[in-house]
Amino acid sequence: MQTPGQKAANDKYRATHGVERRAYSLAYYNAHKVETAAYRQKQKAHIAAQKVVYRQKHKVEIAAKSAAYRQSHKAENAAYYQAHKAEKLAYAVAYHQTHKAEKAAYREANKKERAATSAAYRKAHPDKLADKQARRRALKLGATIEKVSRAVVYKRDAGICHLCGKKVGKNWHIDHIIPLSQGGEHSYKNAAMAHPHCNLVKAANIQGQLRLF
Ligand SMILES: [Zn+2]
Repeated sequence: MQTPGQKAANDKYRATHGVERRAYSLAYYNAHKVETAAYRQKQKAHIAAQKVVYRQKHKVEIAAKSAAYRQSHKAENAAYYQAHKAEKLAYAVAYHQTHKAEKAAYREANKKERAATSAAYRKAHPDKLADKQARRRALKLGATIEKVSRAVVYKRDAGICHLCGKKVGKNWHIDHIIPLSQGGEHSYKNAAMAHPHCNLVKAANIQGQLRLF
């Protein structure tokens, strides 16, 4: 055991001799490369197990660190992705082609879990499901469609019904300003928040007008 005095002296030494210490470590490493590699090879399983334990123990810090890294290297990452887009796509296609059978087997073997996972996702993200259903309805009517997210419309319209100007509740409709049936598109430009009631009244009025003319 070192005394507090010895510890303080050691800390001071380490703090003031950082450069030499690093140079020494590097020189030692370079001079003993072969032994170090042999040691690592021999201890491979043990080192791998230690790594798993370390990563498990420091999960949160590691995730935070990689998130920070991704955040600070966003531009490089995007540039790299752009520069290697074609290769990445080709690789993904080739991989898919050569692993088709395994993929199908995996899907088949994990059928129940996969169904449970997507059911849970749909339950947790009702808005995403509603977005998809709205696109499908619009497609059926032959309308030009854009990927419209209810969450984005809600934010943009600040929770206000565009027909009566009052706040909507939990249950609200996407109203197509120009109805899909009249050639309106399913797009952000043509979508607005509405109370279900206001939406239905508007639809009934349009129906009435169509009957009049
Ligand atoms: Zn309303």
